[in-house]
Amino acid sequence: MTVKKIIFKSKAATSEKACIELMWDYLGSLYQNGQIYKNYEIIKVYDGELHACVTLSDEKALDEKNNNRYAVDSRSQLAALFDISETTLGETLSCEASCRCERPSFYLLQYDDWCNDSPVHCGDCGLCVPLYKLPYFSMHDEYHRILSWAEACKHVYGLYMYGLNERYMYRQINRVDFVLFKLGAEICREFEALTKIPFYSYIYKTGKNHGVCPQCKNEWRQSEGSLVHYVCEECRLCCDV
Ligand SMILES: [Zn+2]
Ligand SMILES: [Zn+2]
Repeated sequence: MTVKKIIFKSKAATSEKACIELMWDYLGSLYQNGQIYKNYEIIKVYDGELHACVTLSDEKALDEKNNNRYAVDSRSQLAALFDISETTLGETLSCEASCRCERPSFYLLQYDDWCNDSPVHCGDCGLCVPLYKLPYFSMHDEYHRILSWAEACKHVYGLYMYGLNERYMYRQINRVDFVLFKLGAEICREFEALTKIPFYSYIYKTGKNHGVCPQCKNEWRQSEGSLVHYVCEECRLCCDV
């Protein structure tokens, strides 16, 4: 994915602290709107310029038409204080390109414990789908709910890997009757209602659900695509071998 530098050259005498707060607001809005990933940084350059380094969720993510109302607001406040320009630094090697499919046949919600990509994957090409391309849930012009869910999954997975209350942590992310998994399934249902495209949750196959879907107890069906091995269409669940 493309990494850009946003350059802020001061054109008015203003408190640096206030400017930096405004920049964090702006970058936070871009993140919450799925336009950039969480690894954004502000760098104070020695000549007094401020730079922001951002990883884009796709090449067009920073187009102003994609901004939500919060990003529009903080960007216009910043534009009164700074000349703002952008330059491309290159491609990050820590995440793959994003999906360009027009209308995928299905989506998959799956957090990734080691990278910052979008937790929504395209069922056809398997690549991450920039969140800003998906509809908003009602009343919200951002994706706070799904981003928080993915972060919570990562933390729980981290605690599981660290060996803290292993069974409980594992169940949170991998049992259909535990809260975190249920929240993910709810997000899937809402996205499906908005996009009219099937939205699946991913579950790890364990001894208990090895041969059957853990929700309806029917046998898994072999997937026709290459992204996952097994699906239960009724429950919108999928898993691998
Ligand atoms: Zn795709
Ligand atoms: Zn099922």
